[in-house]
Amino acid sequence: MSEKNFETEAIRNQMERSQFQEHSTPLYLTSSFVFEDAEDMRASFSEEKDRNIYSRFSNPNTTEFTDKVVQMEGAEAGYAFATGMAAVFSTFAALLNSGDHIVSARSVFGSTHTLFTKYFPKWNIETSYFDINNPSEIEPLITPSTKILYAESPTNPGVDIIDLELLGKIAKKHHLLLVIDNCFATPYIQQPIKFGADLVIHSATKLMDGQGRVLGGVVVGKADLVREIYLFSRNTGPALSPFNAWVLSKSLETLAVRVEKHCENALKVAAFLESHEKIEKVKYPFLISHPQYEIAKKQMKLGGNVIAVEVKGGLEAGRNFLNALKMCSLSANLGDTRTIVTHPASTTHSKLSSEEQLAAGITPGLVRISVGLEHVSDIIQDIDDALML
Ligand SMILES: *Cc1c(COP(=O)(O)O)cnc(C)c1O
Repeated sequence: MSEKNFETEAIRNQMERSQFQEHSTPLYLTSSFVFEDAEDMRASFSEEKDRNIYSRFSNPNTTEFTDKVVQMEGAEAGYAFATGMAAVFSTFAALLNSGDHIVSARSVFGSTHTLFTKYFPKWNIETSYFDINNPSEIEPLITPSTKILYAESPTNPGVDIIDLELLGKIAKKHHLLLVIDNCFATPYIQQPIKFGADLVIHSATKLMDGQGRVLGGVVVGKADLVREIYLFSRNTGPALSPFNAWVLSKSLETLAVRVEKHCENALKVAAFLESHEKIEKVKYPFLISHPQYEIAKKQMKLGGNVIAVEVKGGLEAGRNFLNALKMCSLSANLGDTRTIVTHPASTTHSKLSSEEQLAAGITPGLVRISVGLEHVSDIIQDIDDALML
């Protein structure tokens, strides 16, 4: 099939039909696969044959899901994981050696930050941090040991934006691998490989599933790097389950329409909050007031579905707001059909010290809203009622 538009590829890019000519992809709930004879088995294990052996290595459903993401991100290859964190951990663990150095934005997902600060130092892998809003801090941090430049854009939870093209140039100049966690954007909104990323990571749990059902993760990018990550994973076992892969493949068929609507709702909610008397500050990439609005417009098709807000009155007011919501869910997920509100300082980023939280842009009163697919006037009504209580 010649290359089609994003929506068409997402729907039509599927595995070959079985002899039953099913229209919807079947679920291959099998741990292993059968060989014709001893020679077939030998050739399969020696990789002379490209085929499924055991579902820890590959499975038709995980391959279908991975292939869809590879296509969407414009990558060469990919590998799917049980969770986003398995994808993040396996990428670093497969590619780094003891003594290697990471340069990362300070504001990254809470568990990623914990890997950098608590676990990687055990293997003599150190991380230096730059302020996401001050990319001039990056180059002075680079040493001869630096191997990976790492960032998220938009960030979680502050929805800060960094210029991916600039990161691509810095990585190229210093021969670093540029790894981008593209979870908040999805490939529908932004494709970091176009700007020079070597690898792109997703928590598929978020907008990719989009319906709050399954956990999943995926890494896509350059084939030689993905092969290292695959070999590491094949031996350490963080594989995505075929069932979750089957759910995620179906979800990707509707990614474009869902993300369009999520972003349309989010922009309306953000604009509403910006003029609200009880709100101190609103950050949303496609509001002109966002400090990196121009960069967001340059590299993103839409603004995403996450809004960061500061309720007037700090921590106390933020908690009162959460308690007064009647419809919006208090939950740890994001990118669901249901609007979800969280308080990062006391939940997702609670393992950071208060200095680390502030440095990562997480103020005590910061509230993160993941705007869902309910009718936007109902979302706005619930938020307004809770703020005015
Ligand atoms: C949720 C998330 C992760 C981790 O994904 P899990 O599927 O929960 O393991 C990593 N990065 C970002 C930006 C996330 O939002």
